[in-house]
Amino acid sequence: MADAQVAVLGGGIAGCLTACLLADAGYAVVIVEAQDDLMTGASLWNDGKIHLGYTFTGTPSLATARLMQEGAAAFLPTLERVLGGSLPAEASADPVIYIVDRDPMVPAETLWERAQAVTALLVEGAARSPGLARWVRPDDARRTGRHAPLERLTPEQAEAETGQGSIAAAWRTVEAHLATRVVAEAVRRAVRERGIPVVAARIAAIEPASGRWLAHGETGEAIGAEVIVNCTWENRAVLDRSLVPVSDPVSIRYKVALFGQGSDALRGIAPSTRILGRYGDVVRTHNGEAYLSWYPAGLLARSDDGVPPAIPVVDSTALTDRILDGLGLPRSVVEGDGSTWEVRGGYVVAHGHGDIDRPDSPLHERDRPGVRELRPGYLSVDTGKYTLGPLMALRAAAIVRERLGRPGSGARVRA
Ligand SMILES: Cc1cc2nc3c(=O)[nH]c(=O)nc-3n(C[C@H](O)[C@H](O)[C@H](O)COP(=O)(O)OP(=O)(O)OC[C@H]3O[C@@H](n4cnc5c(N)ncnc54)[C@H](O)[C@@H]3O)c2cc1C
Repeated sequence: MADAQVAVLGGGIAGCLTACLLADAGYAVVIVEAQDDLMTGASLWNDGKIHLGYTFTGTPSLATARLMQEGAAAFLPTLERVLGGSLPAEASADPVIYIVDRDPMVPAETLWERAQAVTALLVEGAARSPGLARWVRPDDARRTGRHAPLERLTPEQAEAETGQGSIAAAWRTVEAHLATRVVAEAVRRAVRERGIPVVAARIAAIEPASGRWLAHGETGEAIGAEVIVNCTWENRAVLDRSLVPVSDPVSIRYKVALFGQGSDALRGIAPSTRILGRYGDVVRTHNGEAYLSWYPAGLLARSDDGVPPAIPVVDSTALTDRILDGLGLPRSVVEGDGSTWEVRGGYVVAHGHGDIDRPDSPLHERDRPGVRELRPGYLSVDTGKYTLGPLMALRAAAIVRERLGRPGSGARVRA
């Protein structure tokens, strides 16, 4: 049996950063991970956009934008604290151009008004928060001569810059993507350098045991801890419910996209995100990593009961064609420039049910993620978004510190 003061279940961005912050504070912490390596789930196979709120304009509420901006403000400072340095500059991308389709779900002018409200919130927040100010990119503004964090483009300008068609309206934001492979490798290294033990187990149940917790693996492993932090993302609700009756609706979707490396064909094409009507992304980070998604093609499975849906087998060639067709991109984007591409993906977990193809879907609002101590010493981390991973790690680590008090000297993990 492995034994620790704190057992963090799930080694994605939320779990790894929580473990590092706790190890740095002197606690004996262990990570329990079902896969062969850390950072191989949704925290690797996502498009790495650090959201500022522009995607979540399906409702007039600014609640999601406020949370995303708080997450964006914490993202780089927390990562740098854990990594002991900055990410390489080539791990980032140019700012995203948002595109509203000619067949929108919400009128383009309404979305433009909401984008302006998100920007006002951003500018106000950036004046108070240095972490948020970093996304407003003064360097970029100096280089390009642009100072506005939001810039309306004509459909023609947007088409020329993004290579996308069927554009009713468009605006350039200061939102940007990070190369998730670079972040994943840096986070794995941070865990290794701290000597945090990683136990290979898929946790199936959790039970209280004499004032402590026991996490039971599917194949008989047991991990004992004073505190458990559940960062298992797609399995969070299932594990929580094995302990506490939770009735919150939980939507879990499995979404794939095309992930490329060494992309040259997309060089010079501005990153774009099409929202609220049709959904698609085209992204290339400066190191040549690339991400192409077309939502109707990439959504493979969905459940509304908190249990991860089974993942169907996919025909990668047919899926590649459907994604490229949806985005209106030629096949030469993924072949002939020496790049390599794979269809990969992950679970998208959200409070709510249904799908984003309806204007009244509760999934347009993402202000519910957070860390909840469901029982004394049992924390459930709903990361919500990659953007929020570091913020949720800070919150989880703060709750653990409060629960355990000062770390005991000489605490050790037996794994
Ligand atoms: C295609 C796609 C695109 C996305 N794009 C963006 C984006 O651009 N911006 C953004 O902010 N967010 C995005 N997201 C969401 C983002 O990826 C997730 O919110 C975030 O990565 C979740 O981090 P996590 O650490 O909670 O989960 P994960 O990274 O999935 O980590 C959870 C870990 O727990 C492990 N685990 C699961 N069950 C168990 C168990 N029973 N026992 C032990 N270990 C277990 C898993 O193997 C995994 O390693 C996207 C998601 C997808 C799928």
